[in-house]
Formats: sequence, C-alpha cells, structure tokens
Amino acid sequence: MDSAGTPTPDDASVPYSHIFPIGYSNSSDCGYCRGARSGQSRKRFSYYAVATSLTPDFYQKLVDRCWRRSGTLLYRPNQKNSCCPHYTLRLDATGFKPTKDQRQAVNRFNKFVLGEAYSKEAARLCPRSREEIKKRDNEFDLVARVSESEFQSLKTPPLPAHNLVVTLEHDTFSEEKYEVFENYQRLVHKEPADKISRNGFKRFLCNSPLTRETLTGADGKEKKLGSYHQCYRLDGKLVAMGVLDLLPHCVSAVYFMYHESIRSHNPGKLGALREISLALDAEYRWWYSGFYIHSCPKMRYKVDYSPQYVLDPETLEWDVLDKEALAIFDKKPYVSLSRERKQQEEEREEEEERGKEEEKDGEKESTSSTSDTDEVPGVVSDGNGNDSGGDDEAFLFHSNMPGIPSLEDMKQVDMDNLLLRSDYSDECFLASQLVVWDTESIGEYGNLKSRIAELVAAIGPDLVSEFCVDFRRKNRM
Ligand SMILES: [Zn+2]
Repeated sequence: MDSAGTPTPDDASVPYSHIFPIGYSNSSDCGYCRGARSGQSRKRFSYYAVATSLTPDFYQKLVDRCWRRSGTLLYRPNQKNSCCPHYTLRLDATGFKPTKDQRQAVNRFNKFVLGEAYSKEAARLCPRSREEIKKRDNEFDLVARVSESEFQSLKTPPLPAHNLVVTLEHDTFSEEKYEVFENYQRLVHKEPADKISRNGFKRFLCNSPLTRETLTGADGKEKKLGSYHQCYRLDGKLVAMGVLDLLPHCVSAVYFMYHESIRSHNPGKLGALREISLALDAEYRWWYSGFYIHSCPKMRYKVDYSPQYVLDPETLEWDVLDKEALAIFDKKPYVSLSRERKQQEEEREEEEERGKEEEKDGEKESTSSTSDTDEVPGVVSDGNGNDSGGDDEAFLFHSNMPGIPSLEDMKQVDMDNLLLRSDYSDECFLASQLVVWDTESIGEYGNLKSRIAELVAAIGPDLVSEFCVDFRRKNRM
C-alpha cells in the first residue's frame, strides 16, 4: 500500500481519528422497552469503541455506517439482535416542508417573543404591502421565520416583549448549561436526582472527541465543523440548548434540553426546526435526528419531519422512509429495505412468469385483487444460532450483524499498514510491526489481532488508512 501523502498522527498539523476497540457485547439494560414489553428478553448487541480524537470528516463516514457516539463512546448497534433495533435517519433539509403544526409552533413562539405592542408598532412604522402579506401567508421561509424574533434581526426601537438570542458555542461545560440540564433531566425526563450529576453531563454532552474547524464557502458563508452547543437565551437566561455535531454533510442532533419555564412553547419542535434551518442555511443539507426505534412511541415524532430517509444496515444505502416503508417496519422487527425491494421484485417476476404460463394454458387474464400479505419468512435467520455460550456471543465475526464483512472477507484485507499507538512508544507504528502480527489469527477470539480486525470490520475495511488504533492506557474507559 502506498502511504505517501497519508497523514499520520505524529504530524500535529493534521487532525486524526484515534480509536480504541472495546468489542462486541450485549447491554442487557434497555431504556427503550423497560417494562413495556416485559415478555420479551432485553438485549441490545452493539460493537463498542472509544474515540479520543475524531475528525468531522471521519465521523461523518461513521454515522453513515450506523455508528453514533455518546460522549467519547462510539457504538454500532446490531439491528438483527436487539429488542429495540436502532436505525439511522436523516432528513433532507432542502426538500423539507414543515407541517401546519410545525409552522404554528414557530409562529406562536415568535408572537410571544415579540409581543403585541411590538408587532403593532412595527407594522405602523414599516407596513407590509398587500403582496408581502399574501406571500408571507403562502410561503413559509423556514430560515427567515425561525430567526424572525431573534433580537439581532429586529429593527429597534420599538423593543420586543422578550429578548431572544440564539448562539452556537463550543461544547464546554458551564454552570449555566448544567442548570438547564439538571432541570430538564429531573422535571421533563423524570430522572431521579441522584442520577443527575455534573460529571454525567460533562461526560455525555461536553468536550466531545470531535476536532473543530471552520470552512468558508465561495459565498463567504461560514460552516463550522465539530461539536457545538446551540444556546437559546430568553431575556438573558439560558432556557434551552441543543447539543450538535456539525459534520461536512449534516447537522447531527446529539441531545436537546430545555428549562421547564418554556415548556408550553413546544421547545422540542422549535429546536428541531431551528436545527433543520441551520442545515439549510449553512448548507450542511442533512439533519440527523439520531437513532430511530420504530417500536418506541416516543420516537414517532421524528417521522413527522419529512422527507426522511433511513439507512439500510446491510447495503448502507439510504431509502425514503415513507408510509409504505413504515408499513414494513410495522410488520417486522428487523428491516432491510433493499432486501424487501429485491424480494418484492422477485415475487413480481414470479407472478409475471405465472401469468405467462396461465396465458399459455389459454386461460383468461386473472386479475389477482387479493394480494398476499408481506409476511414472507426471512431468507436469513434472524437469530444468531450460536447459543453455545462462552466467547462466541462476544465475537463480532459470529454475530451475523448486518453490514459487517465476514471473517473470510476480512482475511483478504491488508491491515499491515494500519497505524497503532501504545504506551510503550511516543510514536505510532504499523500493525505489521507487532511481534504477534504474523503468528496470531484474526479468527481466534480475544487475541490482539482479532480485536483489531473486529474494529476494522465494524468501521469498514475501506477506511483502514484513515484512523489510528489507540491502545494508550489513558484513553481507556
Ligand atoms: Zn428494548
């Protein structure tokens, strides 16, 4: 492999992604179906890793392969082996049409912020023409409307009833932010007080491993990359905050919290619309609302924002998540839309073949109005038949996880030039320099080489030159 021009972690000027492999495991505690479907066993198998440094470009590739982060913890869920399969969603902000409900939430909040006196006085000072009013009623310009009541976009005097300021800030900890988090977790999330801590907040929502950069477009517009806190201050008080990962092609929503005092204003909706507007305005294009769990009613709101796309765990291609697709999710716990399509096509072809045969038999055209239900048993068994216990359950290559290359495929992958880091050397080195590299086999669970191969498989062998496997002790959980 020609590594000329490939950045190395030693070159301080080049940000680089550093990842420590944890492994494939089950989290028997599932917060999504706790108690709700007690008959079913709770299992959520995922592959886990820790990132100590992550470039926005690399993380974009990861989120487009079903990965997501929680603090520095990275995980890729196995949708086939989960009580609540997690699917990656994204919304195309350029094609987004807000619903009546969504438009109303923005309009009402603007009205509240500006106040009646301001609106009347502003209308008197600079009246809108009949055409402007008509246009405003017919067109909902999301970017303009969402920022309409922000103080900096107002002509003053007169003064609005409330002063609204929205800023994008670095994702650092502050007592002001923690207060909103604490209030939200306790009163909205109903989390017990002893479970809410500054450390938890810091670990989960501050100081992300993403590196930061700012791009400037041809039009001079700034595009920030990295982790940010979008802070909403009303009359000087922080009342809501969106935790965002800004990546080359998306605004990825990590978390959204608000203070109880603004609960009646539909803050969740306002936050989502503000983030979609950011995706549109700064040309990220896509808004990722986080994992979607079809069986979890709390997540259904995500589908209210459309056009929504779902990532196929097998092909890693995006499919429209429309009514038709949702109907398939209603019927099956695990869905690969590409496989569904293929199956439907095959059925159609079979039907056509049958039609031809029937025609040959001289029969009249039979319009089959009674279509079969889609309940076709999957070609591939959903369970992973390795109940022999032991290490098998924890070996990624025995997991039957969608989108993961097989052990045989991995044996063909050249990992010799993969960069590694350890406590024993200041510099990074190549995997092939490991003493055990030529003696260990990736098929043996638990050895160093197979752990590395699991990580490469979970990330994708095509990205083998884009990250460094970081074994330094300070980076472990
Ligand atoms: Zn569950």
